[in-house]
Amino acid sequence: MALHCWTSARYTIALPEGHRFPIAKYALLRDAVIASGLVPPSALHEPARAAVDSVRLVHTERYVNAVASGTLSEAEQRRIGLPWSESLVERSFRAVGGTCEAASAALDRGVTMNLAGGTHHAFADHGEGFCVFNDVAVVIRMLQRDGRIRRAAIVDLDVHQGNGTHAIFSGDASVYTFSMHGGRNYPFHKVAGSLDVELADGTGDDAYLSALSDALPRVLAAASPDLVIYLAGADSHEGDRLGRLCLTFDGLARRDVMVLDACREVGIPVAITIAGGYGRDIEDSVRVHLNTVRIASQY
Ligand SMILES: [Zn+2]
Repeated sequence: MALHCWTSARYTIALPEGHRFPIAKYALLRDAVIASGLVPPSALHEPARAAVDSVRLVHTERYVNAVASGTLSEAEQRRIGLPWSESLVERSFRAVGGTCEAASAALDRGVTMNLAGGTHHAFADHGEGFCVFNDVAVVIRMLQRDGRIRRAAIVDLDVHQGNGTHAIFSGDASVYTFSMHGGRNYPFHKVAGSLDVELADGTGDDAYLSALSDALPRVLAAASPDLVIYLAGADSHEGDRLGRLCLTFDGLARRDVMVLDACREVGIPVAITIAGGYGRDIEDSVRVHLNTVRIASQY
């Protein structure tokens, strides 16, 4: 059975020369996925815009309106780190739509993937760190509202802590938030999740995978989820500009296998989002994400 993937790479944004956000990554990944033959054209989807009603399950009316109408203040745009434009609005709603459609399909298919998303620094009332809307939070709230799931677990292995996600689900016993990240990395003000594992700068494959194999069974047992959302960030790779960790391509592949095996063992569907990846050579980040597609297509 083919791995179904969603891509919103067509909805790109114009950024000033030298901007740190690697917008090119999304189209490069889509093209690499097509060229690899791992995902047949019939299983590669373009998402609709996420419904405003769904986005509003997480985000405040003021913030959603400010994003949609272009009335974010200069300070709010600086905090997001991306200049406002009509295309940013379109891209933001499409990327959330991709995670919504992927997660809905995961409930029927087992494993699916959005070749975008994982925007875990977005809070209910503001965005930051290149994140406009919190796609992962939106989809969980949407599936709960529709009665398709009761409980969810977030396995956030982006190298940065999922501070926005943690804040959104703080005090909500139906959503278990697990983040394993660089302790000295952004965000410098961390928000406690259900389980946080902080790693030292320079952590390599063995220490990383050992910590992950300790944590995963605990996460799944405590969460007892109907769905796992996995943020398979590429920014813990040793070639990342921002990551400060030292995982190899092989270590990251073993990470993906470990997560998907753990979920399969207990029969829980998984929707994967790509989250961050800021390779000094952006092809390195694309390669990490493509490896995740390759591995996920075997489940
Ligand atoms: Zn990150």
